[in-house]
Amino acid sequence: MRDIERLVDGFQRFQQQYYEDAPTLYRNLCEGQHPSTLLVGCCDSRVDPAMLLGCDPGDIFTVRNVANLVPPASTDRGLQGVLAAIQFAVEQLQVSRIIVLGHAHCGGIRALMDRRTRGDGETDYLERWMDIAEPARRQVLQQMPQASAAERRRACEQASILISLRNLEELPFVRRAVDAGGLTLHGWYFDLVAGALLAYSARADAFLPIVCPLFTELA
Ligand SMILES: [Zn+2]
Repeated sequence: MRDIERLVDGFQRFQQQYYEDAPTLYRNLCEGQHPSTLLVGCCDSRVDPAMLLGCDPGDIFTVRNVANLVPPASTDRGLQGVLAAIQFAVEQLQVSRIIVLGHAHCGGIRALMDRRTRGDGETDYLERWMDIAEPARRQVLQQMPQASAAERRRACEQASILISLRNLEELPFVRRAVDAGGLTLHGWYFDLVAGALLAYSARADAFLPIVCPLFTELA
């Protein structure tokens, strides 16, 4: 089957499910969306947030970009699309939590860690975008000089989630909502090799499993 036909067939199944078999959900969603969660995820085709987290349409408001990054508040005009989506979710939709969902084997982080010399041309979009996570790269190289490339990439994937959480905290509308007790921030990491979900614990200063790999439970 050609790819494009799979997509059209997929929509027909979606149509059958949500407009024929169980039409109530979309009938309600036509009145408006009320997601309680904003999720910042990666573009990677293997980490679809709604699929990973078992969500129905309307459950999560999602921003996806290369390496699931939140730019700093003082960003240049070219990076404001992500911040606009976050502002909409916090101020208009009044979500109660923001999850930054990173993942193993992230191509964006690999590009960052493999960086030799930084391109600075006008059209080096990936380079300029990944500059957001450059402090994570520097931190990992400094703290893990003996580690393998794979270990460093994993550490950078997780460290960049913390940079995004810090950048979130510095957005005035996010800070206001957090201070008022109406918003919480979370850093999650999908280990797609082990099939596990980890969450950042500030107390442990580490990513700890919240859903363990299946083989661990069976052991
Ligand atoms: Zn990625």
